[in-house]
Amino acid sequence: MRKPMIAGNWKLNKTIAEAKELSGDLAKCLANFTEVDIVIAPVFTALSAVAETIKDTPIKLAAQNCYPEETGAFTGEVSPLMLKDVGCEYVIIGHSERRQLLEESDAFINQKIIKTLEAGLKPIFCIGETLQERENGEMLDVLTTQIKGGLANLSATHMAELVIAYEPVWAIGTGQTATDEQAQEAHSFIRGLLQGMFTKEVALATRILYGGSVKPGNVDGLMAQDDIDGALVGGASLKADDFIRLVRFEKA
Ligand code: PEP
Repeated sequence: MRKPMIAGNWKLNKTIAEAKELSGDLAKCLANFTEVDIVIAPVFTALSAVAETIKDTPIKLAAQNCYPEETGAFTGEVSPLMLKDVGCEYVIIGHSERRQLLEESDAFINQKIIKTLEAGLKPIFCIGETLQERENGEMLDVLTTQIKGGLANLSATHMAELVIAYEPVWAIGTGQTATDEQAQEAHSFIRGLLQGMFTKEVALATRILYGGSVKPGNVDGLMAQDDIDGALVGGASLKADDFIRLVRFEKA
């Protein structure tokens, strides 16, 4: 049985004061809500303050990125151990914005996943095709390459700690959501890949979130799909009311 997860990626938004206000509102309204794993990912500068606001609630803290080294001469970077130190449980890795804007490769993403797991943190590993790749009929190849590259050298034990987020790039921040059927088709394909790379048990146990313009109006239909175990949410995670409605999605 896969527990649903709703994760908010706040991206490059919110001052410390704003982050405290939003996380405080979530903490108040979701203090006793344990049916769904709730995760929020503020900017690095707000992690410490938000950790304080959500302590003693079921809400978990995530970082939006990490660097695959523990310490050393890596100016401007933050290691998984430091994220653990500030109170993170999860780290978003391989978001399409970083793949595109910073040209992060599957091999680099794989290193981050391994170092994150070694530090005792849980990766939320993002994959997804661009519109051009989908229109060229390359979607399945792209997902296969990203999964095989990102999850290289991982064991079944590692997989128990990892969450996958399928985020078609054309649906992120565009208001254009994949249909329930399009999302289900991709998720089912990803689960099949996991079965081939690992075992049927791993494939059935791994949570696969959908991301791309998830909102209160479309969350229920997406969450009713067999292979959709939750959502990674950008825009709608920045407003307490919207995010709470996503967390409290209506079961089919
Ligand atoms: C995201 O950034 O991971 C995302 C899915 O954004 P949005 O919900 O705004 O499309």
